[in-house]
Amino acid sequence: MNIIQIASEAVPFAKTGGLGDVAGALPLALAREGHNISIILPYYTAKISPKKFKLKDAKTSFKVSLENTDVEGELFTCKVTHNVTAYLIKQEKYFGRSELYQTAEGDYPDNAERFVFFARAALFAASQLKPDIIHCHDWQSSLVPVYLKTIYKKHKSFERVKSLLTIHNLGYQGSFPHTMMPLTGLGWENFTFDKLESYGKLNFLKGGISFADAISTVSKKYAEEILTPEFGCGLENALAYRKNALWGIVNGIDYAEWNPETDEYLPSKFSRSNMAGKAGCKAKVQEVFKLAQRPEIPLIGIISRLTSQKGFDLLEKASLELMKMDIQIVILGTGEKKYHELLLNLAKEYPQKIAVRIAFDNSLAHQIEAGSDFFLMPSRYEPCGLNQMISLKYGTIPIVRSTGGLDDTIHHAENGFKFSVYDPKALIACIHEALSVFKNRSRWLALQANAMMCDFSWNASAKEYINLYKKMLSA
Ligand code: ADP
Repeated sequence: MNIIQIASEAVPFAKTGGLGDVAGALPLALAREGHNISIILPYYTAKISPKKFKLKDAKTSFKVSLENTDVEGELFTCKVTHNVTAYLIKQEKYFGRSELYQTAEGDYPDNAERFVFFARAALFAASQLKPDIIHCHDWQSSLVPVYLKTIYKKHKSFERVKSLLTIHNLGYQGSFPHTMMPLTGLGWENFTFDKLESYGKLNFLKGGISFADAISTVSKKYAEEILTPEFGCGLENALAYRKNALWGIVNGIDYAEWNPETDEYLPSKFSRSNMAGKAGCKAKVQEVFKLAQRPEIPLIGIISRLTSQKGFDLLEKASLELMKMDIQIVILGTGEKKYHELLLNLAKEYPQKIAVRIAFDNSLAHQIEAGSDFFLMPSRYEPCGLNQMISLKYGTIPIVRSTGGLDDTIHHAENGFKFSVYDPKALIACIHEALSVFKNRSRWLALQANAMMCDFSWNASAKEYINLYKKMLSA
């Protein structure tokens, strides 16, 4: 099959979270199954080095009409592997910025315009590639399925093409004032409750949900949860309407990047059969975070976007109890200012117990994964979550709330610990249970060995996507 992935971020080019990991790793896994893959993404010129990626100017320019203005774009390309090619859409005004979507002050105010442009530009690129499947990710590419069924309905390049929309996080919908509708180039007849309108606003994700041939999300549990008002973020009815076309496929981990045996960021490597190097990784994390280098103290790692989704309010409520325990906590993250302040204040008050780094730092993320004993994810909701699966590979035991992908991948007392009620008492009780196992050497080693045996490589998930693509093409 000729499969196009359209995403606003993809490793190794640009990443802010799990979407980047998936959009980078899934194409490689699909390609290993013998398919031809193209990835289309914006060319963030401040982040993507043309030299490093040997980007070639495709010498193709095009124009996108946004209301009454024509905006020009250019296409750059590079080979990722022999059957994976990336196409980067250059438009300096939109994508030549320091960040992808937002700064600490909030979202870029012209995000609607930026990602209308991206969707139209991506379709221009796609029209040259003879696709069978166009696989879009999240709200930033959600207008693509809308255009395929409207403006591009009769376009020769797309006559047989099927579109899949994968929702990585329903909390981000691309919701804009209705006055932005003309920017899309779509008629007002599309601004209805069964198409692009949601609570009076123009909602890109709803458009994708309404128009895509199939929809998927990133775990089976989350695919069920989003049909309920608690997790549906206002789109539960739109999703329920498409229930027969809704699938859950759990993400995988790219073990070429996340593997303690080969990880170049670690001071000492280790494996399931030789764990000795993990102690050196722990000492390194304690050193970097200026915590006492005590090998026996339980070290809990957190790497996260600092948003309410990730359970920081729960952590705040549990903090007094947590600070009574003989533990160390290290946190790496960026996000909302109020959580920056909360965590930095805690670290100031309890410098022996908690240390915080407000940054996005991939190498430190690898070191925390390797050096921690536990990895904490008390998420309010978690579509899939990658860090718990990464942690397993490093013998770092996840403590999670049983929601979404965390519930699908973590089995209590078998490869981690989980609690279900979103409540500080439940979190504390779960941590106490985890710590008691940590103190029991033989149980702890057995748990670590179990965790490290789990296989969440992309191969199985890629096969599920391929089956879904085939189903869509034969429908
Ligand atoms: P989400 O996509 O909701 O942010 P996931 O668990 O699916 O959460 O994926 C997060 C990915 O981003 C992981 O690979 C994680 O290590 C990485 N990540 C998140 N925050 C940081 C950070 N501050 N520094 C480095 N990596 C980070």
